[in-house]
This record gives sequence, C-alpha cells and structure tokens, in this order.
Amino acid sequence: MTTETFIEKPKTLATLRAEIADGRTKAADLAAGYYQRIEKLNPRLNVYLSLTKERALAQAARIDAMAAKGEPLPLLAGIPVGIKDVLVMQGAPSTAGSKILQGYRPPYDCTAVARLEAAGAVLLGKLNCDEFAMGSSNENSAYGPVRNPADPERVPGGSSGGSAAAVAANLAVATLGTDTGGSIRQPASFCGVVGVLPTYGRVSRYGLIAFASSLDRIGPFASNVRDAATLLGVIAGHDPHDATSSPALVEDYAAASDIPVQGLRIGVPSEYFGEGLDPEVRAAIGKGIDALKAAGCTVKPVSLPHTKYAVPTYYLVATAEASANLARFDGVRYGYRSPKSATLSDMYSHSRDEGFGAEVKRRIFLGTYALSAGYYDAYYLKAQQVRRLLAEEFLRAFAEVDAIVTPTSPFPAFKIGEKTGDPVAMYLADIYTVTASLAGICGVTVPCGTARAGLPVGMQVLARHLGEATAFRVARAVETAGIQE
Ligand code: GLN
Repeated sequence: MTTETFIEKPKTLATLRAEIADGRTKAADLAAGYYQRIEKLNPRLNVYLSLTKERALAQAARIDAMAAKGEPLPLLAGIPVGIKDVLVMQGAPSTAGSKILQGYRPPYDCTAVARLEAAGAVLLGKLNCDEFAMGSSNENSAYGPVRNPADPERVPGGSSGGSAAAVAANLAVATLGTDTGGSIRQPASFCGVVGVLPTYGRVSRYGLIAFASSLDRIGPFASNVRDAATLLGVIAGHDPHDATSSPALVEDYAAASDIPVQGLRIGVPSEYFGEGLDPEVRAAIGKGIDALKAAGCTVKPVSLPHTKYAVPTYYLVATAEASANLARFDGVRYGYRSPKSATLSDMYSHSRDEGFGAEVKRRIFLGTYALSAGYYDAYYLKAQQVRRLLAEEFLRAFAEVDAIVTPTSPFPAFKIGEKTGDPVAMYLADIYTVTASLAGICGVTVPCGTARAGLPVGMQVLARHLGEATAFRVARAVETAGIQE
C-alpha cells in the first residue's frame, strides 16, 4: 500500500443495540460522533454529497426518549446509516450524482429508506455515486470521485462507491446502494465490505431514480454478513407502490446466516476463472473455496457457457432502458435548466447537453440506437433472447448446486484515472456481475482475503431466485473462516 489508509470497522448492530438499550450509548451522541468523523474525513474521501442532520438528530432524540422510558426498541434503533444519492428522501437533495438534478428536493421518501427509518435507523446523509449509477469506479460522478479508504489513490468501485467506502471507513454503520449490473457487489469487494444483491423484486424500487428498470435493485452494505442480512430483512417485502415487488415471505436472514453450511453443494463455474482473472484474486478465491470444503460443503464444477455473451447483452438492455428512463430530464419541471435557452427546443437540448456527463450521454446514444426502427430486432430483441438463455442456464445449474461461488471482480481496486480512457475495458470488467443481474437471481459479496499490498478481494456467492438465506449462509462461512493473504 502506498499511502495512509482510512479503514476502520464499525461496531456490529448487536453491540450497538445493546449499548443503546441499556443507556451506555445515547443515539444522539452516536450520531454526533459520526458527524464529527464525517467532517474530518469527507474532505479527503468525498463519500457524502449532503448531510441530513436535522432529520437524523430528531430520530436519535426519539430513540433516546424511548430508551429512557424503557420502551422496547425497534431492530435498528439508533443505528447510523447512509443512503446512496439515487434513493430519494423527502426534502433532501437527491442528485443521483448528476448536475441535471442539482437543487432537486423530492417530495417523498423511497420505500427502502422509509423502512429503515421506521425500524429506528438514523439517516446520516446522501452518498456519492456514479452519475445515474452508470459506472464501475465512481469517476463518473459530477461531484468528483470517491476515494478508496484502503488506498485513497485508488477507486472504491462503482457505481455505489460512496456506499461501500462509507462502511469501510466507518462513516456509517451500514448503507444502502443500488445494483443494476454490479454496482453493490463490485464496490463492496473493492472496499472490503459485505454487499447484497437481492433477488429482482425482493426490495421495492419505489423512490429509486431509475437507470434500467428491469435490472435495478436496492440492497444493503455492512461490515459483516449478519448485519447485511438484518438490513435486508428490514427493507425487503411487498410494496403496493412497486408492482414488481414480490409478495413472497421475508425470511429471518440473520438467523439463517448462522446455520452451518455442512452438506451444501457449491458450484464453481470455469467460465469465471479464465483469461483476464488476476492471479492473486484467483488465489484468494481458491482459499475461500478451500474453506467451504473444510466446513463440509461439496464443491463441484458447473457450466455457464453463455457467460461470454453477458457483457454485450447487459450493455444493450441497460442502455436501451436508460435512454427511455432518462428522457424525463428535460429542464422543464425540476433540476437543471440551461440559462442559454431562447426557444423550447433549445431549452431541452441545452439543458440535457450541459446537465448530463459524457458517460450518461454515451449510454443514451447507445440505447436510442439499439431501440430504433430497423435495429430493434438485431440488438434489443436479440439481447432479450440471450438474457433468457442466461437465466435458464442458471436455473439448470441450481438444480445441481445450492450456491455458486466466483470472484466478484477480475481484479482488485485500480488507480483513479487508470481506466477512464477506455470505456469498453471498463464495461468488460463487469463480466462476473452482470450475469446475475440479467438472470434476476440473488447474491452476496463477502471479503475473501487480499491481493497485492493488502487490497481487498471479494467472493461472490450466488443463489437462485429468493435464495438469499442460502447466499448469506455460505458468505458467513467464508467470513468466519477469516481468509488471510
Ligand atoms: N458498471 C455497470 C454499469 O456501468 C453497473 C452499474 C450498476 O450496477 N448500476 O452499468
């Protein structure tokens, strides 16, 4: 490691709950302590875009009053959490990392955020991310890159870079992010924390500023598997505001994560261990797989031959949906409006030209092209067909195994600026995460040793639709094994 590190592990939910319940820690002091640390480190790491102090302190006071009266406390009472800036909070700036939403203050709360608060969480503020969640390094934020707490010369991953870095640097106990093609799992792996991709529909998307609606998911980040599981339990479940949210029962994921893995069948797909995989990442994941064997799992090869088509498929589906979703930002009703505009049509084009960054524009072009008459069948429709094949291939694999393990990213965190000149190389690096996104299945990334000079490596544990309990169980076994370099 070249420079100083900002890594600090937050206390666990269980510890903090006990301290708050018996009065040893006041929720108000805890929040104030976090704000002090944010004030000190945010200028260096650029993790928070805005703070929601008034709302946080009011909630902390409510929790302290309940504790003082000896009332039963909700599950997340007093726990300081941070929220990715693509999730709206009433009255709070919600920029999605874009200039085009500068000054926008939404009139309502995102369901997942509201559920955290109803469970007692203290909402500290809004976290930096790639513009409209498009990116893998956080360098596409209109508000500057986030720095990786393990090495501030490096990216934290993206697009939920702020959400991952906040937990890694103890600027929040846990956070929410979003994952469309890897945006929770990859930054969690780069920063050495746990990140969860819930099954599509497990968590309501109401209040998520949409990127690609058939792929977007909201999920938690935490410093350990149990806490991530607890958070998922709070935010999951049907929501009348999102017709795609699943009515399936929400399990006790934290309890499930404690069940020993002995007897579980673990699949290892050779397609995720081929060319382009960093040898040190391969070695770290190998140790994780050995730990699962030692814990009594049966490990066997599985085949996912369509993996090689996943990146082009993802970048067609995601950009097509993005081009439609981003049509609403026109400078008329909210957000940025170009002062240069003389006519209505000028206002649209100037506002969008000045308000969107280069990567977002690239995606709008790609997506509009893929959807246009004459190209639709060749690109968008074809991509949907390949998507179906990928999903079926996972279903076949899950008939034979309970979980599939892979590296989360082909390499550890790279240097800021190292890959910005080559968008296609950046896209190709999403190879291990976009498959589960297209298939709609769930996964957890868990720290699994380190590569060069202590850079975190993450193991991705995938499970079938609504198989979160199994994914948490396997991730917890890897965590408990304590894989070292
Ligand atoms: N890196 C991928 C992209 O740029 C995934 C982003 C995401 O999951 N939001 O689209």
